[in-house]
Amino acid sequence: MKVERLVVGLLETNCYVLYQNESCLVVDPGDDYRKIAKAIEGYELEGILVTHYHFDHVGALSDLLKHHCTTVFNFKTLGKQKTKSFSFEVVLNKGHKEDSVSFVFENDIFTGDFVFNEGIGRTDLPGGCDKEMQKSLDKLKVLTKNYNIYPGHGPTTTLDYEKQNNPYL
Ligand SMILES: [Zn+2]
Repeated sequence: MKVERLVVGLLETNCYVLYQNESCLVVDPGDDYRKIAKAIEGYELEGILVTHYHFDHVGALSDLLKHHCTTVFNFKTLGKQKTKSFSFEVVLNKGHKEDSVSFVFENDIFTGDFVFNEGIGRTDLPGGCDKEMQKSLDKLKVLTKNYNIYPGHGPTTTLDYEKQNNPYL
């Protein structure tokens, strides 16, 4: 699986396009439908993965759905999921927002605004909760594989690096 990061919108949100052969998935179509459309041109869009419904993560969602008949994966589709070319698990990670999820692939986790490089998402916005954030962090901490972490903002990191350097882990 090849991962491409597109930085979109005023809040510089990370939208990711995951490629596998002739197919792709889009994680968090935050803004800039044209940029995303260009990145997926010629590929079959097998699904759109939404980490949570803040505008900077879903701004281009309706445009994308207008042009593609595809499945949306989010907090309503928890558990193991499979499309034609991709397998992943949708894990509930409340704290930043009540609908926050992470998408866990074989070696990669897309965390949205749950965990960043050396930081975590805000919990003081509507739907945020410190207690839930702690529970979600505890779930992440017990994973033993050194996953690549792809956050909703900022650079890519790894789980081992965050365990050593992220004050919240
Ligand atoms: Zn957010």
